[in-house]
Amino acid sequence: MREYSQFYIDGAWVDPAEARSFEVVNPATEAVCGMVANGSAADVDRAVSAAREAFPAWSASSVPERIALLRAIGAEYGKRAGDLAAALTEEMGAPSALACGFQVDLGAGHLSTAIEVLENFAFEQRRGATLVVKEPIGVCGLITPWNWPMSLIAVKVFPALATGCTTVLKPSERSPFTGQIFAEILDAAGVPAGVFNLVQGNGPSVGVPLSAHPDVDLISFTGSTRAGIEIARNAAPSVKRVTQELGGKSANIVLDDADFTTNVAAAIGPMMMNSGQTCSALSRMLVPRARMDEAIDTARRAAAQLSVGDPTGDAALGPVVSGSQFDKIQAFIQKGIDEGATLVVGGIGRPDGLTKGYYVRPTVFANVTNDMTIAREEIFGPVLAILGYDSVDHAVEIANDTEYGLAGNVAGSDLDQARSVARRIRSGWITINDAFDFHAPFGGYRKSGNGREWGEFGFHDYLEIKGILGYAPEEAGS
Ligand code: NAD
Repeated sequence: MREYSQFYIDGAWVDPAEARSFEVVNPATEAVCGMVANGSAADVDRAVSAAREAFPAWSASSVPERIALLRAIGAEYGKRAGDLAAALTEEMGAPSALACGFQVDLGAGHLSTAIEVLENFAFEQRRGATLVVKEPIGVCGLITPWNWPMSLIAVKVFPALATGCTTVLKPSERSPFTGQIFAEILDAAGVPAGVFNLVQGNGPSVGVPLSAHPDVDLISFTGSTRAGIEIARNAAPSVKRVTQELGGKSANIVLDDADFTTNVAAAIGPMMMNSGQTCSALSRMLVPRARMDEAIDTARRAAAQLSVGDPTGDAALGPVVSGSQFDKIQAFIQKGIDEGATLVVGGIGRPDGLTKGYYVRPTVFANVTNDMTIAREEIFGPVLAILGYDSVDHAVEIANDTEYGLAGNVAGSDLDQARSVARRIRSGWITINDAFDFHAPFGGYRKSGNGREWGEFGFHDYLEIKGILGYAPEEAGS
């Protein structure tokens, strides 16, 4: 049982303004595994004031100073990797291998990427007779979700610190342990007082006052479209910048010339990884209609091989995060059945032999049409919809027929064709044959959000751009 009763504000562990807390439930056991202080507007005020006071000095720090701090954080992060992974498994049910190998490693990847970008970043550039200066925006409120808790904290905090901003982090109330350990890491690394602050709590108690706070210059939010809209509303009166990384319903277009068996089989594991609780999950697989039966066979075999169970063991999939998430996913599976999709594997109820814990059966539906609920709504569970297409144009039309636009993949052996299909997809992150790059821009079109994270693009939202006009003509272009 973990107990975290203090917040990290102005370089010290402090008591909250009001003595109240919330419970954290281990989704594998359904037992309470932690009590965490629930903050209030007064705690947010205190953290924002600390960040505001720290801003002049931190924003004036040199690039080498900031790199030195990020490296020190990296050293401490490495020492605590095991603790972070254990916390992740406990709070949101990530299997140990995933927690360590993906969640914590992704955070480390964002840190080394931030250092690499900072080493080469042009904070000042001449554009003819104008000097363009990029300056840190100020105090940043960072609000994160529970599904990839560590990497989603990392992808915000590191670019914010790298660009010279000061921060107030509010992790998800479902996954607060990683945030708490993360604050311990930054403290041990010697982050200057006020540059990084942590306030725990839920949306209404901490997220709302942070979004509305007049002395916060930017809210960087990752989470549901619902909360993203509310945050933008609350932020509007103070005209602060709001960046949103929201939901998705991404398409995986398997072209006719793809190595079909390999590509379909290989797509099942990543789609269901983290029990499908990934914003960029490729939850709609598009295959040539004539090859639907082949896809069904391959997907059935691949999904049936995914073990589900105790996340402290070696199961491929752990539970989903909560009872309400479990119920929501069950309702989607039922909808898929009711609306006439072919249930290939999985279905309603827990996997055989599991009587406790929020475990969902890896589920594949085929012959799905794009107007069915399971093709339109973000399920956030291990549920794949396979849709048939008649031509490449039709595949592109289906892929783009969604209110989201976060990610996508094109599988095919003719790379020119795959690239040309990728260009036609209205999404921020399209992989070809599952490529990966920490320096690629990550973010959404339409209701998947705005702003971009990862690599150099992840710096831009934290910077104001100033033009200083009036340089002498002979200096132009220098
Ligand atoms: P959520 O929106 O319920 O919560 C996210 C965070 O926002 C939490 O910290 C929560 O306390 C806070 N919050 C909730 N309501 C708020 C409000 N009114 N004002 C301020 N803060 C508020 O989302 P979740 O259930 O934790 O995460 C799942 C969602 O996140 C999914 O929709 C998923 O697609 C999305 N997500 C997107 C990305 C991306 O990069 N696009 C990445 C991961 C998750």
